[in-house]
Amino acid sequence: MRIGHGYDVHRFAPGRRLVLCGETVPYELGLLGHSDADVAVHALMDAILGAAALGDIGRLFPDSDPQYEGADSMLLLDKVVELVSEKGFSVSNADITIIAQKPKLAPYIGRMRDNVAKRLGISADRVNVKATTEEGLGFTGSLEGISAHAVVLLNE
Ligand code: MG
Repeated sequence: MRIGHGYDVHRFAPGRRLVLCGETVPYELGLLGHSDADVAVHALMDAILGAAALGDIGRLFPDSDPQYEGADSMLLLDKVVELVSEKGFSVSNADITIIAQKPKLAPYIGRMRDNVAKRLGISADRVNVKATTEEGLGFTGSLEGISAHAVVLLNE
């Protein structure tokens, strides 16, 4: 088994959709980024690549490349899963933590989990998505942005 960790941050911006684990969450602000800025899926992809020792998404999908402008991060996740499969790895489980002061994510967690499980090709009981706040502290607390961590186990 191989373990990997991923971490990402995106800044809030007006006039953008808020997309987390492939789910559009209604909110007055979205996340700024070259792609759809799905911070949770970005952390997840980096965890998968980390476990497989295949670098990171910045190297795989450079934001200088116009083909990734506005990209659906779930499609990028498909590519990451394909890449690690080719190397003989399969995802055993994933645990994602989204750190956001606002909005309340509880109503969307179930769908986020299902979206991720589907893309990873594993059952939903092998995927956990959770949300927390930082009690008003730091950049998430002051609503500057959202961060996410992910931990993944790969089978060789
Ligand atoms: Mg990112």
